[in-house]
Amino acid sequence: MEQVLTIVCKLNAAPEQVAKLDATAQAFADACNYANQVVKTGITSKATIQAEVYGDLRARFGLNANLAVRACARVGMNRKAAKTKKRPVKEFQASSIDYDARIFSFRESDWTVSLSTLEGRERISIQAANYQRGKLAGQSPTSAQLCKHKDGLYYLHIQVKKTPPDPKPYKRFVGVDVGRRKIAVTSDGQEWSGKGISDIRDRYAKQRAVLQRKAAKGTRSTRRRCRQLLKRLSGRERRFQAWWNHTVSYRIVKRAVETSAVIVLEDLTGIRERTNQQPRNKTERRRSNSWANYQLRGFIEYKSVRDGAYCMVVRPHYSSQTHHACLHIGDRRGERFFCPNCQVVEDADHNASKVISLIGAAVAQPRGPWLSCEIVAGLQKAPTL
Ligand SMILES: [Zn+2]
Repeated sequence: MEQVLTIVCKLNAAPEQVAKLDATAQAFADACNYANQVVKTGITSKATIQAEVYGDLRARFGLNANLAVRACARVGMNRKAAKTKKRPVKEFQASSIDYDARIFSFRESDWTVSLSTLEGRERISIQAANYQRGKLAGQSPTSAQLCKHKDGLYYLHIQVKKTPPDPKPYKRFVGVDVGRRKIAVTSDGQEWSGKGISDIRDRYAKQRAVLQRKAAKGTRSTRRRCRQLLKRLSGRERRFQAWWNHTVSYRIVKRAVETSAVIVLEDLTGIRERTNQQPRNKTERRRSNSWANYQLRGFIEYKSVRDGAYCMVVRPHYSSQTHHACLHIGDRRGERFFCPNCQVVEDADHNASKVISLIGAAVAQPRGPWLSCEIVAGLQKAPTL
């Protein structure tokens, strides 16, 4: 199994190189827009798109063979994405270009990349810090995206393929309950309360509300300033959350590797719909934080593949209503869980994480014929219970 890592490096492009990249990005976007207009809507196959407009793209926009091929592929991909989201394809902006092995290469000896432009190849040095150097050393990446970020500079997102280590044999299961009240709780007793983080997010939300009010009744320039500030704030909040999620997932996976445990996560497909069904106020809905939970789960999954731990996903039915000790259905009230059978009160999130680990164990080591699932390297989806 292969894992793809994306390494982002800033390009140290000279002004004349920037001009060439700008021109190429513009031609690439124009070509995509043209292809999207000319080719019948609904066609998403890049081969079909290519058969129809490849010659046009080269002649009209001056793209070389592989850039034209990549433009067709980009249109196909965006159409597919738009189809699943049931939205029209957005107009292509001159802010990114896809590169493949024939039009892009990386040279480790002087930390440069070579990129095709409308006027031939350009060799540009990349800004690589220790992290990027460690990941790129000894690699010959075969694809990349050139992107102009919000700061107006060009960055290269380089894809590096890696074969992760074979997972070590597992001995136990650790259930992880992600983001009901707390950020994450494991059946081992690791816990991240999320108190600090929700305070900070509340502060951002308050700032946002003030700015939005101000923007609503301000002059034109005030409105613009507020918009800029809001944009900056959203990035800051997102980065803060991502950093936090990296920390939490790192610790969970590290512990699992050290104790030869299989990480068991709930299959949260549709959780947003479910949690939002309950009548709740605006603050609670915002705090439910579904994108952050989703990101945390994604981080746990890829880190466990990378570090040789097993990770599986199970259906969460009744995980929060079942008592882990006796498997009777109990009563969950906020942070407390009451089991009428054992007459005990437990911490609801801890109980849920233990139930999740039990479901994982039951699915992987079935005692009967009705449930079975072979644990393989990487992510495993368990059958419905
Ligand atoms: Zn009980």
